[in-house]
Amino acid sequence: MNPPQISIVGAGIGGLAAALALQQRGLSVRVFEQARALAPVGAGVHISPNGMHVLSELGISTDTLNAFRPGATVIREYQTSEPLFETPLGNTIEQAFGSPFLDLHRADLHQALMTQVQANDPDTVVLNKMLVSITEKSDEVTLRFTDKSQSTAQVVIGADGVHSVVRASLFDSLAAEYTGHVAYRGLIATDSLPDGLIDPVLNIWAGPGKHVVAYYLRNGELLNYVAAVEEPDWTTESWTTRADVAQLADYFVDWHTSVKTLIASTPAEACYKWALLVRPPMQNWSTGRTTLLGDAAHPMVPYMAQGAVMAIEDAWVLSHYLATESDIAIALANYGSARQGRTAAVQRAAWEQGQKTHAQTQHQSDSVASGGHFAKTQWLYGYNVCTEYPLIDPD
Ligand SMILES: Cc1cc2nc3c(=O)[nH]c(=O)nc-3n(C[C@H](O)[C@H](O)[C@H](O)COP(=O)(O)OP(=O)(O)OC[C@H]3O[C@@H](n4cnc5c(N)ncnc54)[C@H](O)[C@@H]3O)c2cc1C
Repeated sequence: MNPPQISIVGAGIGGLAAALALQQRGLSVRVFEQARALAPVGAGVHISPNGMHVLSELGISTDTLNAFRPGATVIREYQTSEPLFETPLGNTIEQAFGSPFLDLHRADLHQALMTQVQANDPDTVVLNKMLVSITEKSDEVTLRFTDKSQSTAQVVIGADGVHSVVRASLFDSLAAEYTGHVAYRGLIATDSLPDGLIDPVLNIWAGPGKHVVAYYLRNGELLNYVAAVEEPDWTTESWTTRADVAQLADYFVDWHTSVKTLIASTPAEACYKWALLVRPPMQNWSTGRTTLLGDAAHPMVPYMAQGAVMAIEDAWVLSHYLATESDIAIALANYGSARQGRTAAVQRAAWEQGQKTHAQTQHQSDSVASGGHFAKTQWLYGYNVCTEYPLIDPD
């Protein structure tokens, strides 16, 4: 069979992971990205074992990721900082699930994927190509860009994020829904914080209607935090919208000193805000020649830290079907069937997790034993797409 020409819209984590997985299977791919340059985005991302299985199979070495390996997740009372629940990570989670749980700078992950993709084919990623429309015929798909250029392919993958043009053109044109939650994000040089202020774990301070997550990046050189608050009327979703540190501090005046010190230590240019948007799970996200991946297909709130991980899992499964099934429509339908149930379950679980965390009170009495916690996350972290859909050597 002749390999199909495959175009991906969007060079985010999902689009690049898909490009790399397709290249690994001997398929040729082009990625069209709207940005003029791939500038580093200053934020952290957790990659849980189910995502790390895939990155490892894609040849991304953890050494290139400058990762921080948190020792545990510790949920803390918001005013006293006393631990309410503690779940081991570090070696314990790696032994339980066969891959580590890592905290990464998003730019390091993005760069590692980009380097591998470009090493396979330096012309893979085409920048400054903003898709405006897509037309599918029985034998090909045409992409049109804002610069009036166009490109055709046999298969198109919409990895263009929560405001996906591919999704709007072929599936539903409804705007993503604002949850009423905003994530403020800050990045601080560790040496500018008081010694020992933040434990080397994944810290979560949980209080009524708000929570703060703080963890180290780049082998401990940086401290990243996300503060989730409820704001009724903010709807801009962007990695580059600056936030007002003083406004953020106002939300947390009665919180523990650790949280207040973190916010007060945030340089004005390193504080951003991001409206959290969702869409209900889709019943079907493929046509005969076009499909979706990552946030374009299943945007979710970040409270399970799984949006990028699900995009990485999608990339693996989609590339498996495109490499092993010659009928493109069947390959895309099989990919959708394989992914829709799992990603919908994660979308729901992430929202429920946010509700639980924001309802946390000082006198919370639940306790979660470490073994019990892993049992609860077995469905999520214990699933390995690489063994479910093993790589078949293209030769
Ligand atoms: C505060 C916060 C914390 C998070 N933490 C985690 C975490 O710890 N772990 C985790 O797994 N996930 C996390 N996520 C979720 C994660 O960031 C997303 O799920 C992930 O980035 C989705 O990747 P993607 O490639 O599908 O989309 P995106 O990252 O949005 O990439 C889409 C790409 O498409 C491009 N594009 C868009 N439109 C066009 C167009 N018309 N033409 C051409 N190109 C286009 C964009 O420029 C972009 O490069 C978090 C999210 C937030 C908001």
